[in-house]
Amino acid sequence: MALRAPSRNTVGVAIDSAETLIGIHEETESDIAQRTAPRTPARKLVLWDLDYTLLDPAGFGHSSIDLAFKRLFSEDAPTDISFAGRTDRAILGDLIRKGAPGQEARQDELQELVAALVEQRNENLVEHGGRALPGALRALERLSTEGGIIQSVLSGNLRRIGRIKVDSIGASAYLDLDVAAFGDHHEIRADLVRIAVAAAEAKYGHVFGGQDIVLIGDTPLDIEAALNAGANAIGVANGGFSVAELAAAGATVALPDLLDSEAILASVLGTHR
Ligand SMILES: [Mg+2]
Repeated sequence: MALRAPSRNTVGVAIDSAETLIGIHEETESDIAQRTAPRTPARKLVLWDLDYTLLDPAGFGHSSIDLAFKRLFSEDAPTDISFAGRTDRAILGDLIRKGAPGQEARQDELQELVAALVEQRNENLVEHGGRALPGALRALERLSTEGGIIQSVLSGNLRRIGRIKVDSIGASAYLDLDVAAFGDHHEIRADLVRIAVAAAEAKYGHVFGGQDIVLIGDTPLDIEAALNAGANAIGVANGGFSVAELAAAGATVALPDLLDSEAILASVLGTHR
């Protein structure tokens, strides 16, 4: 990164390099991008799904949803609502429509209670029986050493729960959660792709073409979100869907698991056979 001549910030303190420039009012988006950009230019934006892609949640969060629902509506949460690949906003909306009809306006209240319960119970994914899936941490590490690959999260989880999961499995160091997209505000997963890409472009000062954006997920809804956003999709059959089902959904590459980190890297770079 080229150093700039000494300049002054808004409170008149001399600063001597771009690295010491801190968040001040005169800092432009371009300044921020220069300050935070990796030394290798960004080439790829990899957006990882969490549940059954990087980790087995073992019901983590689900018990807090049930508890919060009961506390708020004095009814048991319906048990026949699909969770796979959907955003928490969509899931909680369905739960309310089915289990507490007429109370749809209380979605935000329910979200707040779910997240607060997870935090208050000081739950840790691993203590709860969850775990990183085999090869997940090695794959994250492999992509991080390649250079030019920004890794983040695209998950339907509520942000506060997603962050706890990422921390629990020791994946925080590999993932730039500043540009992550979570399921607090949107029901459609493809909308999350646009949010993450916009955040990454603002932070890194790089426009990612569709082929430079890669979603990695375990459900046809992950694949659909990627394709709707013009991005590449890597399917991983870590959850309830097979390699064949993920390929049929349109995955650019479908893998049985995360054990072959070189295959994952080649898939991200588009050099797989
Ligand atoms: Mg998933």
